[in-house]
Amino acid sequence: MSWSLLIKNGTVIDGSGSRRFSADIAVSDDRIAAIAPELPDNAERVIDAAGLIVAPGFIDIHSHSDFFYEQCPSAESKIRQGVTTEVVGMCSFSPAPAVPESRAQLEASASSLGASLHVRWSSFNEYLNALDRLRPSVNVVHFVGHGAIRYAGMGAENRAPTAAELGNMKALLREALDAGAFGLSSGLVYAPSAFADTEELIALCRAMAPYGGQYFTHMRGEAHTLLDSVSEAIRISDEGGVPLQIAHLKALGRENWALFERALALIDAARQRGIDATADVYPYAASSTFLSALLPDWVHDGGITKFMQRICDPGTRQRIVVECAAGERWRTAQGTTGWSEVMIATCPQPADAGHSLADLAVSKRKPAVDVLFDLLIEHDAAVSVVMFSQAEANVQKALGQAFVMIGSDSLGLTGGPGPHAGCPHPRMYGTFPRILGKYVREEGLFSHEEAIAKMTGRPAAKLGLADRGLLRERYFADLVVFDPMSVRDEATFADPHRYPSGIPYVIVNGKLAMDGGEFAAPAAGRILSRRAA
Ligand SMILES: [Zn+2]
Repeated sequence: MSWSLLIKNGTVIDGSGSRRFSADIAVSDDRIAAIAPELPDNAERVIDAAGLIVAPGFIDIHSHSDFFYEQCPSAESKIRQGVTTEVVGMCSFSPAPAVPESRAQLEASASSLGASLHVRWSSFNEYLNALDRLRPSVNVVHFVGHGAIRYAGMGAENRAPTAAELGNMKALLREALDAGAFGLSSGLVYAPSAFADTEELIALCRAMAPYGGQYFTHMRGEAHTLLDSVSEAIRISDEGGVPLQIAHLKALGRENWALFERALALIDAARQRGIDATADVYPYAASSTFLSALLPDWVHDGGITKFMQRICDPGTRQRIVVECAAGERWRTAQGTTGWSEVMIATCPQPADAGHSLADLAVSKRKPAVDVLFDLLIEHDAAVSVVMFSQAEANVQKALGQAFVMIGSDSLGLTGGPGPHAGCPHPRMYGTFPRILGKYVREEGLFSHEEAIAKMTGRPAAKLGLADRGLLRERYFADLVVFDPMSVRDEATFADPHRYPSGIPYVIVNGKLAMDGGEFAAPAAGRILSRRAA
């Protein structure tokens, strides 16, 4: 018997959380063929992993690469972090389903992330087929976005659906689940997902429950309404009868940092009542979102065209400013405690990227609020921001919970020639190596075994991936080989387009995606199906 690949002399951490051991790993075609000490050198390719750790490929349980695969199917910034599977369609956004009226809206969501998307499908199935033809380098677990379903099922208005419209949305949801979606994602700070009340979400989850779908949510509030929002998410999961994942768990804004421990306790209590409630974080004390998300829900009512009309109208603009200031919108919804905490990340005018609204206010000699509106107007709202409004202590508290996994909340980018979207959050390039470098090696927050379980075995178990996420014979050969002494994130807020170091080999479905520190772009990823899982 001859193997395609043999990884020799490595220290194996299998993703289950159990202790490391020394073993060789043989790969045959797309599967792990053998794991045992001192396997014979009977392979087309032999990699010496002496001094290195061999682990399952990382599963990024919260990603937005679906808006970027068209430009960057290689998802290079993910592969270079050791990511072999991405969970996308998050925060209510997915490129499908689409109807003619919602196409422009979906494409606008993509451009707000610094991407460009050409929507040329209707159903979720057509979209997944188009995605498959792009041959991404990573495996893809897709969710369907509540926003996409709401646009297609009832339009962009800020109101409850009629019974018929709710029926439309349920049918679109079932169609997506049949096509292979793993569940429904909401983004309750983003229009039109934010226009839904709790009952609508429970109704959709109930419709999804018989299909085994899961509910992943960007909650309604992550600042002073954090606890109510956690309770709402748990109620939707409980009454909807579906598993829950709370995305990028955090407390935004200094005055809300003290709420974080109680948020963790609420999730813990739900778990003890038997609810499958889990969460994810990215290992940074700064968040990132659309600049337009700083404006109230009603400004987004009716979609992007109406949004632009409202912010261009001086009277309406004045009303927005007064409401945001008086009603503390800017503090309560997004937790910003000052314009110096809001940095422009991506926008079509690269000169503005990397600067805070406070700095731009000084250089442009106008109030920060005017800078905000000018940027939105100039760039058709296609502006994203990084906000420095979380506590590092809370990031560490979250990482310390066994039910918390790692999600980058980012896009797969390429740092070489190709799209360079301004000054994006460094989590695009650094999330997973930062866990291994900063939090395992430097801070000693947890062991490699625990860190890797959070990034492999636990997300695989959550998603019901039966043959990925662990190193086991006959499992798919998704593997990462890294140097525990040198692995680190290199991307910073000032200089984000930098690949990490210390991850020489990444293998996706048996194919080398990173080979000796070089990106190999094998296009070996697959669209994973919930049914086969
Ligand atoms: Zn989100």
